[in-house]
Amino acid sequence: MAKGPFDLAGKVAIVTGGNGGIGLGMAEGLARAGAAVAVGGRNAAKNKAAVERLANAGGKAVAIEADVTDEAQCKRLVAETVKRLGRVDILVNNAGTNIRKRPEEYAFAEWQEVMRTNLDSAFLMSQAVYPHMKQAGRGKIVCIGSMTTIFGAPFVAPYSASKGGIVQMARSLATAWAKDNIQVNSVLPGFIDTDLTRQARKDIPGIGDRVVARTPAGRWGVPEDLAGVAVFLAAPASDFVTGAAIPVDGGFSVQML
Ligand code: NDP
Repeated sequence: MAKGPFDLAGKVAIVTGGNGGIGLGMAEGLARAGAAVAVGGRNAAKNKAAVERLANAGGKAVAIEADVTDEAQCKRLVAETVKRLGRVDILVNNAGTNIRKRPEEYAFAEWQEVMRTNLDSAFLMSQAVYPHMKQAGRGKIVCIGSMTTIFGAPFVAPYSASKGGIVQMARSLATAWAKDNIQVNSVLPGFIDTDLTRQARKDIPGIGDRVVARTPAGRWGVPEDLAGVAVFLAAPASDFVTGAAIPVDGGFSVQML
């Protein structure tokens, strides 16, 4: 039987930070569409719980402990995935962090921590999967931007730099690797309820209600809201889509006031 445009049966995906939040929401979508998923994260307990959850959703999943700010660990994450699952067709560069302060208050080490986690990791992981995808004659890379790819805010200088950077990097990779039949796209999530934003709600009083008021859909997103776009960007349905940046934000980025 011919495969449908959203069928991922037989495909293997790596999702960095796939052990929680948006990464796990995307990993579940990919697993439901038939992909085997390698979850890359640092926290062993979260890794284990994620694999159980993906298995319960009917998917094949493995966890590989890795810190994606480290080049050698990125290479090992890819090599280990190929060893355990046989190939790598899809990479989701999702691992991310934030440190919220006014620009004048950051230590340089804090700037670097955000940039290394959000931007350097995506470059290193993309470099590490490239030879496998080139050899296979196809591949899909999904990068995670943010509303701060588009907008500024007083307390996100390194975060917004990393999220602007990752989308521009994705566009450059898209142009470089189109001839290899590798599509590289970005997703720009709006405000999604995860550990990362739960911390923001503690750090920034009133942000929970302000997001609801400012979002046309009138609610925060949930990780499951990102599952569909992950499947689309990982599947044959998006074979002529590359370098795109798709907001998944309940209309946040198109509302003027
Ligand atoms: P979470 O904090 O829930 O998830 C972040 C994930 O990244 C964790 O699974 C964590 O795994 C992993 N991670 C962090 N640092 C590293 C590292 N050095 N090596 C390996 N894994 C790492 O946050 P979200 O789910 O909200 O964030 C996921 C992505 O979505 C991020 O890129 C974030 O910037 C982006 N985003 C989130 C939005 C939101 O509203 N929530 C909005 C826009 C973008 P571990 O704990 O094992 O280290």
